[in-house]
Amino acid sequence: MRKMRFYFDYNASAPMLPSAQAIYKAQCEYVGNASSPHAFGRMRRRALDEARAVFSDFFSCSPRGVIFTASATEANNLALLGFVTSHLIVSAVEHDSVWNCAKEAKKRGHKVSVIGVDGAGRLDENELAHAVSEGALVSLMAANNETGVIWQMEQFAPLIHEAGAFLHVDGVQALGRVNADVFAAADMVSVSSHKIGGALGAGALILCSKNEDFLSKCAPVIHGGGQEYGLRGGTENVSAIASFGVALKACVTLPMRDELRDQFEHELRHFFGTRLHIWGETSRRLWNTSCFGIAGWRAEEAVLALDLEGFAVSSGSACSSGHIRTSRVMRAMGADEDKAREAIRVSFGAEHRAQDIQSLCAAIKKLAPLAIESTLAI
Ligand code: PLP
Repeated sequence: MRKMRFYFDYNASAPMLPSAQAIYKAQCEYVGNASSPHAFGRMRRRALDEARAVFSDFFSCSPRGVIFTASATEANNLALLGFVTSHLIVSAVEHDSVWNCAKEAKKRGHKVSVIGVDGAGRLDENELAHAVSEGALVSLMAANNETGVIWQMEQFAPLIHEAGAFLHVDGVQALGRVNADVFAAADMVSVSSHKIGGALGAGALILCSKNEDFLSKCAPVIHGGGQEYGLRGGTENVSAIASFGVALKACVTLPMRDELRDQFEHELRHFFGTRLHIWGETSRRLWNTSCFGIAGWRAEEAVLALDLEGFAVSSGSACSSGHIRTSRVMRAMGADEDKAREAIRVSFGAEHRAQDIQSLCAAIKKLAPLAIESTLAI
């Protein structure tokens, strides 16, 4: 009999919220291109405008500052490779969609500076102050997708702006999980629909700078029919975008349930004691994310063992060509290979119940000792 599955991988993709699903389905019934002048097109345009208004209200920017894309990966590409600058500054723990854009910018001859973090996942502010230069673009994440560590953008923004540089915030994991003022100091923000309960297939780059020179520096990376104010060519995915707007309205009303993460970590600490490591434990973290390791339990084995019991979690390690590649984030936080290989991420949703957390803890408490004993016995 197939065991009941428990989904604890919201940071990878969250389930669609009912209201987002309803508008998505309704929009899929319609035909038309939002750029067409006829009634069918105008109806699609209305749905697009309504979603755009939700974002411009939320980010206090003009509707023209809301550039819909197909994903946050694309929004990050637009931010980092579209913005006109010769100096890009990123942190060592950014998501691959930022990290690989920085690599690409370097290939194209731009200067790229990488800012380190400490063992608790905190950004090295002195390094940032030293690196920042006039006209540079600094790209920092508001919350880390692996550890959940939150960065206060208002702490870094003054030194970036005073140097005449610009701040791009990868807000994918923070949206709906952190107070909106985390974005207030940003010049642009990337966000993703499927992380907040909207459909897959929509993202946005929000241009919310108060600097008058800013817009003249924005250029498209996808050239096409002039959609999205000329900054992103391609017919808009109206169904997904409409659900994104509805999801944004809904997700900010959901409770931030710190007690779930606290219950989870407390139960594991009680059982595993000093064998348990919690990444970023002393930093401010997302209420829904716990990244932990149990000494001697490899994360890739843990993910498979938990999956067999019906629990979906994730690990930072990835297997490529028969080799395990550990997470760049863990390494940047100073972990050795063994410790990095033990990093497991669980990410909750507001609808999880205390007994779901208990079930997950019970499975971990059952599986980890078995795996550790069998390793010790070899
Ligand atoms: N940025 C961060 C911090 C993420 O966690 C992710 C996805 O996990 C992305 C960007 C990319 O988002 P998308 O899946 O919409 O491309």
